[in-house]
Amino acid sequence: MSQPPPLLRPQRPLHEAALEQSRRSMPVGLGLDSHQVRERMVVRLQAQGLRDERVLAALRAVPRHAFVDTALANQSYEDTSLPIGLGQTISKPSVVARMIELLLAPHALGAPLKLLEIGTGCGYQAALLALLARSVVSIERLKPLHDKARDNLAPLGLHALRLVYGDGRLGHAPNAPYDGIIAAAGGDDLPAAWLEQLAPGGRLVAPMHDAAAGGQVLVVCDRLADGSLQRRSHEAVRFVPLKSGTD
Ligand code: SAH
Repeated sequence: MSQPPPLLRPQRPLHEAALEQSRRSMPVGLGLDSHQVRERMVVRLQAQGLRDERVLAALRAVPRHAFVDTALANQSYEDTSLPIGLGQTISKPSVVARMIELLLAPHALGAPLKLLEIGTGCGYQAALLALLARSVVSIERLKPLHDKARDNLAPLGLHALRLVYGDGRLGHAPNAPYDGIIAAAGGDDLPAAWLEQLAPGGRLVAPMHDAAAGGQVLVVCDRLADGSLQRRSHEAVRFVPLKSGTD
């Protein structure tokens, strides 16, 4: 008998549904070891200092191998970035984990978060975010990647996630304000729309060029309760460029 659609079981936590789905969709070549390989990845990230249980649980649940080409699937749990087509890359797991940990840090466990992601790419990070939030909007400017992400994500049945094809530099006003905004591409500035669409108590995490550092750094920007912005620069990173418009 086929599985009932997740919508008929609203009481079921999304992460359980995703976990079960990932068990059912084992790729050729990884077989039944997929969970163990993923667990080893999580243990390595813990050893590097990743502590947030929410992020660890999401990393355990999402099958990263299902978001890359079959030929690369055997590298999908190594801590490396991988090509996803059109000159773009899926970030390495340690960077994805670090950014989501920073994004969630101001928010209590179980808080019903509204998140915005810029740069859907293959959809891997969007899937992680969808397990951690009440709603996620993820924007991609390259149509073939937007379509690819839709295909990659469909089997996971993540109802909290909405994919948008458009220029993420404009954010997504219809759902604003957001408790968290995370960008997977870096420019010379933080677009004004992102800051405008950040809720009080919300946090923005993005790579950005820093002239003093001579390259890209991770920038964290908090909107405080009084409406003011507080910005800090963190470690050096290397992301694909944030571009304008759509292709
Ligand atoms: N989070 C992604 C990472 C993809 S790489 C993943 O898990 O795979 C970054 C992506 O940002 C690329 O796909 C690139 O096309 C996209 N991008 C760059 N500038 C953008 C913009 N202005 N709006 C939306 N997406 C953008």
